[in-house]
Amino acid sequence: MKRVPKVLLVNPPIYDAAAYSFWSAPLGLLQMGAILRESGMDVALLDCLAEKEEKRKEDGRAPFVSRRAATPDALKETGKKFRRYGMAADEVERRLGSLGPPDLVLVTCVMTYWYPGAAEIVQVCREWFPGAKIVVGGIYPSLCYEHARKQMKGADLVVTNGMLDAFYAFVEESLSWKLALKPEQAAPGAFPFPAFDLYAVRHFVPLLTSFGCVYRCAYCATPRLYPRMARRRPEDVLAEIGHWHSRGVSRFVLYDDNFLFEAEAFARPILSAIGRLPYEISVYNPNGLNASLLDGETASLLAAAGFREVRLGLETADPVLLKRMGGKVTREGFARGVELLGRAGFSAGSIRAYVMAGLPMQRHEEARATIAFASALGVMVDLATYTPIPGTELFGRYAHLARYPIASEPLFQNNALFPFAWEGFTEADMDELKAYARAQRGNDVGGCV
Ligand code: SF4
Repeated sequence: MKRVPKVLLVNPPIYDAAAYSFWSAPLGLLQMGAILRESGMDVALLDCLAEKEEKRKEDGRAPFVSRRAATPDALKETGKKFRRYGMAADEVERRLGSLGPPDLVLVTCVMTYWYPGAAEIVQVCREWFPGAKIVVGGIYPSLCYEHARKQMKGADLVVTNGMLDAFYAFVEESLSWKLALKPEQAAPGAFPFPAFDLYAVRHFVPLLTSFGCVYRCAYCATPRLYPRMARRRPEDVLAEIGHWHSRGVSRFVLYDDNFLFEAEAFARPILSAIGRLPYEISVYNPNGLNASLLDGETASLLAAAGFREVRLGLETADPVLLKRMGGKVTREGFARGVELLGRAGFSAGSIRAYVMAGLPMQRHEEARATIAFASALGVMVDLATYTPIPGTELFGRYAHLARYPIASEPLFQNNALFPFAWEGFTEADMDELKAYARAQRGNDVGGCV
């Protein structure tokens, strides 16, 4: 009988000036793991991003364990202090040593400026498992493909989001194993449930309900990563909730960039069905909903479906800047959405809004006025500090104005470095703005500022 191929999925540690597990999970990696498992392979997981259990919150989030690390040479002059988030290097080695050698190692990398952690893991796996094939995928190689090919020394294949066929062909050929499933990006319903059962304990499960987005915001990479929007069927989403609930999961995190778009055909049937379940679940939406698309019925359904809080995207209340960003949510649309949520029973403290800060040429007074506007409506504001993402409209237009070489070195794309600081919005202004947003929220500590 043919030997069953062994696969190891690895979520690498992160080197960063600041990182917090904002209901993050290596979803793509676990989706690939599920596909390979459905094809009969033996799949294991090493998630290096260990969290501090003693600090876990009621909503399921917890900070990563971390320790001081050297600041990358390229960033020394920024004065930023770096940490390694996740397991210590010797713990990673100990875990790898306790595993039998895999035939295939899949490594993911999310943010472009997190590539040093992925490169380190590729190197360590290459040393431990010289005979294994190593594949690197995720958002970083999808956005910085040539850079990733150079940096991921020791990898046999680097894949972008759009290279699923190449990935499947590589796996079949190098392992001499036929895949039973080869779902395409355009058909999210064809993917098996991500392999979250590989975790001993799951404090929440993300629900990816669609790929892509109908909007084209100037700062966002989603339209590039997923050129077309594709949704799962509401009944499939419900089946996944039932699947995880029967395995002890009651917190779900909605990963959907357009959840309320054409809500009558998608969000409302899903929310109504969740409301009719014979058990209660909690739902969180870190991606933020579009307040302009709310109506009274949908707001009530969100409450009945177990949304413990509702996060909204506001971006800016400044009409000129709004137009430059894509113009999704106006002041009026936002205020109306907040009012509808209030009528549906969401208290002021359970409505949050993301306000963007640090955009190219943005003035700090504008961000402050947006915080004041949302706070006056009783909304808790979380600052979303701008991350320049290669391939986006804003990046192409303003990269030359950044104070660091963001186009040639992804490490400089880190929002913690505030690449677009200028005399109209300095680092001191940013610190003051964060303090202002915190003060407006009172004692709340739930945000991501
Ligand atoms: S920011 Fe949100 S709404 Fe805008 S394009 Fe990206 S995913 Fe779509």
